[in-house]
Amino acid sequence: MLRAGSLRLGSIKSIEINVNVTWLVVFGLLVYWLRNGYVLEKAPDLGLITSWVVSAVGALVLFASVLSHELSHSLVALRNGLPIRRITLFIFGGVAHMEKEPASPGVEFRMAIAGPLASLAIAAVFAFLRFVVLKGIPGTAPWLIAEYAAYANMVLAGFNLVPGYPLDGGRVLRAILWKVTGSFVKATTIAAAIGRVFGLGLVFIGVTLSVALEAPAFLWPALIGTFLERLAYISSRRTRMMHDRRRAEVPVAGVVSMTPYPEYYGDPDGWNAKS
Ligand SMILES: [Zn+2]
Repeated sequence: MLRAGSLRLGSIKSIEINVNVTWLVVFGLLVYWLRNGYVLEKAPDLGLITSWVVSAVGALVLFASVLSHELSHSLVALRNGLPIRRITLFIFGGVAHMEKEPASPGVEFRMAIAGPLASLAIAAVFAFLRFVVLKGIPGTAPWLIAEYAAYANMVLAGFNLVPGYPLDGGRVLRAILWKVTGSFVKATTIAAAIGRVFGLGLVFIGVTLSVALEAPAFLWPALIGTFLERLAYISSRRTRMMHDRRRAEVPVAGVVSMTPYPEYYGDPDGWNAKS
C-alpha cells in the first residue's frame, strides 16, 4: 500500500519515513486554506509574505505532528515485537506499515492508544505556549502557529479515537472486545462494522453539507469517509477469510491515522467568504 509514488525522507530507528506524492498536493491546499481561512481571519494586518510563511510553518507543524503520532504507534509496536518497516504520510494522514497483527489484546491496546496520547501531549505543549507563554502577544506569528498546532493535535487525537476500525479508537475497541470475547475475528468484525457505519456517516454528512451550504470543502470528510469504509470492509473480510482458511498469518494494512484537515480552520462561512 502506498509504495508507488512515495519519496523517502530518511529513517528513524530503522523505520523508513516516506511521503506519498498525494501528501504534497494536500500540503499546498493546506497552506492555502490556513492562510485564507485561519491566519488572515485572526490577524488581518499580517503582511503578505508573513501570512504565507506562517501558513507554511503551520502546515509543516501538522506534518511533524502526524509523523510523531505515527512514530509513537511504531515505537510501542517495535517494543512489543511487532516489526514496522516504514511510515508513509499520504493524502488522508499517516500509516505505519505493520507486517503482522498484534499477538495479544494488550499489545493491540497499547500500540493503538500510543498515537492519540502523543497527539494529546503535543496539543498540551502548544496550548501551554498559546495560553501561558505567548498570551501577551496574540495575533503574532508564534501565537498563530501555537494556537493552530494545539487545535490540530486535539483534532488529530479526537478524530482518531472514534471507536470504528481502522481508526485508533476502533483498534482500542477491538482490543477490548478481543479480550472479552476471546475471538480476534469476532472483535474485528464488530469494530469494523462500526468503522463502516462511521465512514458512511461521514460520506452522508459531508455530501449533504457540501450541497446544502454550497461549500465544496465538506467533500473532504466525505472522501475520508469513503476511504475508511472501504478499509474497514476489506480488513474485516480478509480477517474472516484468513480465519476460514485456518492460516496463521493475517496480512495487514497497518496502523492508519486520519487527518481531517479542513476541520482545522474555523467555521464554514469563512471558507465561502474567501473562495
Ligand atoms: Zn493513530
